[in-house]
Amino acid sequence: MKRNLSNNNLNEVKKLRTYHVNTPQYNLYNEMHKNQTFQYVKLKTKEYSKLNKCKMTIKKALALLDDFIDPSDPDLDVPNSIHAYQTAERIRKKYPDDKEFQIIGLIHDVGKVLFSFGEPSWSVVGDTYVLGCKFPKSIVYYDTLKNSPEYDKYDNTGIYKEKCGLENLHISYGHDEYLYNVLKNNKNHKISHKYLNIIRYHSFYPWHTEGEYRQFMNDNDYIILSDVLKFNDFDLYSKEDDTEITIEVKNYYDKILDEYFFGDLNW
Ligand code: FE
Ligand code: FE
Repeated sequence: MKRNLSNNNLNEVKKLRTYHVNTPQYNLYNEMHKNQTFQYVKLKTKEYSKLNKCKMTIKKALALLDDFIDPSDPDLDVPNSIHAYQTAERIRKKYPDDKEFQIIGLIHDVGKVLFSFGEPSWSVVGDTYVLGCKFPKSIVYYDTLKNSPEYDKYDNTGIYKEKCGLENLHISYGHDEYLYNVLKNNKNHKISHKYLNIIRYHSFYPWHTEGEYRQFMNDNDYIILSDVLKFNDFDLYSKEDDTEITIEVKNYYDKILDEYFFGDLNW
C-alpha cells in the first residue's frame, strides 16, 4: 500500500528531498551502502545497547546538536538543534496542549550525538533500510547499493518470515535505533511507548513513504505507520520554516523537558 499523497504534497516531497550525484549526500550514502552490512548492524546494536558511553541529561544531549550539521540532508544547512526547535514549534502550533508530542519533535534527532562518540556520518544519519532481505529500488541512491557485499544476496523475504513484525528487522544503524534504545532502557522519563516507535522509525523512508517492506508488517505496525507519518510532516516541512528560536521558546521547552525527564540518562 503506497502512501496517498495529493499532487501538491507529492511536489513538496520531491522538492524537499532531491538527491544529486557528486554531492556530500551522495558520498555519505555511498559509504553507508558499502559498509552497513547485516553483521555491522548487529555489532553496533549490541555495542550501543550497553549504554556505557556516558551519563548526561537530555538537555545536554540536545545542546551537543549545536555542533552538528547533518551531511545526509539536502534541505538543511543549520545546526541540528535549530531543526529540533523548529520541528517542535511546528507541532506546538498545531497541538498546543500536547506537550509530549512537542517534546518528541524537540528530541527526535538527539540520537545524532553518536557523532560525538566518533561514529562516521554514514552510521548516524540518512534514510534507513533493511539488511537481510532484498534492497528495494526506491532506496535513495539505489545504484550505490551495488557496492554492498550483500547486493543480490537475498530475495524479498530474505532471512525473515512474512508478517514477522518491524521490531524483528535488522535496520541499518543510526540515530533512530540509538535514541530508541536509550529511551527504552532508561526509566527516569515519562515518554510513552507510542512515541518511542516514532523515534525508532522516523528515518525509515523506504517503509513509511515509499510503501516498501509491507511483507513484514503485522497489525500493530500499521498503527505505528500512521503515527510515524503524522510525525514526518512536522519533521520534513519544518525545514522550510525560519521560525526564530528565542529565549522564550528555549525556556518553554526547558520547562516541559523538566516535567518529562529526571536527571542523567545513560547513553
Ligand atoms: Fe532524524
Ligand atoms: Fe529530523
